[in-house]
Amino acid sequence: MAAATKPAAGETLKQLNYLAAALKAPRITESAARLADHARDAGWTHEEYLAAVLEREVAARNASGAQLRIRAAGFAARKTIEEFDFDAQPAVRQPIAALASGGFLTEARNVVLLGPPGTGKTHLAIGLGIAAAHHGYRVLFATATGWVTRLTDAHRAGKLPQDLAKLRRYGLIIIDEVGYLPFEQDAANLFFQLVSARYEHASLILTSNLPFSSWGGVFGDQVVAAAMIDRIVHHADVLTLKGASYRLRNRGLDTLPSIRETTDPQPT
Ligand code: ADP
Ligand code: MG
Repeated sequence: MAAATKPAAGETLKQLNYLAAALKAPRITESAARLADHARDAGWTHEEYLAAVLEREVAARNASGAQLRIRAAGFAARKTIEEFDFDAQPAVRQPIAALASGGFLTEARNVVLLGPPGTGKTHLAIGLGIAAAHHGYRVLFATATGWVTRLTDAHRAGKLPQDLAKLRRYGLIIIDEVGYLPFEQDAANLFFQLVSARYEHASLILTSNLPFSSWGGVFGDQVVAAAMIDRIVHHADVLTLKGASYRLRNRGLDTLPSIRETTDPQPT
């Protein structure tokens, strides 16, 4: 019996090659042949075999989709949650693990990472962004200054509403380094519009070395800043990183003035 099926199997495999190419799923060719032997040995049903073949294709597509989304996100660096040393920030171990599972994206919740320079805010923001890409979300990363430039350009071109609509199709937007540079009042208004456009619709991650109480100064307008913070934190996890810069650890430089002045407890 087995001998009689051999030529037919050869023909069938050729047909499978053709069909897999037509479906633009060339990996099926390889997994169909490989899994067929395994299926016979293990006595799989036809359905089990088909599911296993398709599962390989779907897993491979998801992985390459995630890589595309990661490349398109514009991350400042590739940093993952796995690479983060939580012994340096034990208080955020559990909340970050929960966020990395992606539930906040489904609920359009925000994440705010506060703390002194070098404590890992950008690292964790990118790590959560990469996790989001793996969960199938489109992600866009830029510094606050980068976002202001983009929104200002769109505004000048009379295309702000279109740009905001386009950005709403991203499940996650990361705004790094709020507070490193103060903004013009126009910029504050544009920022407010970005935050409003996403409110209860899609997630934001923001990082800042300043407590919320200092954001008014950054945005040059206490009222706009307060209204914006209100929308950001209404559904948000606010995590505060503490201590000395990870870059400077073990170097005896923990008395740098920038570190001393920002390790005060951060109001939330
Ligand atoms: P911040 O954005 O808070 O200024 P970064 O995220 O840029 O800090 O961190 C500075 C550098 O130190 C980066 O290279 C980052 O990967 C690394 N780093 C910071 N904290 C940690 C940590 N807990 N574990 C591993 N690397 C860290
Ligand atoms: Mg940073």
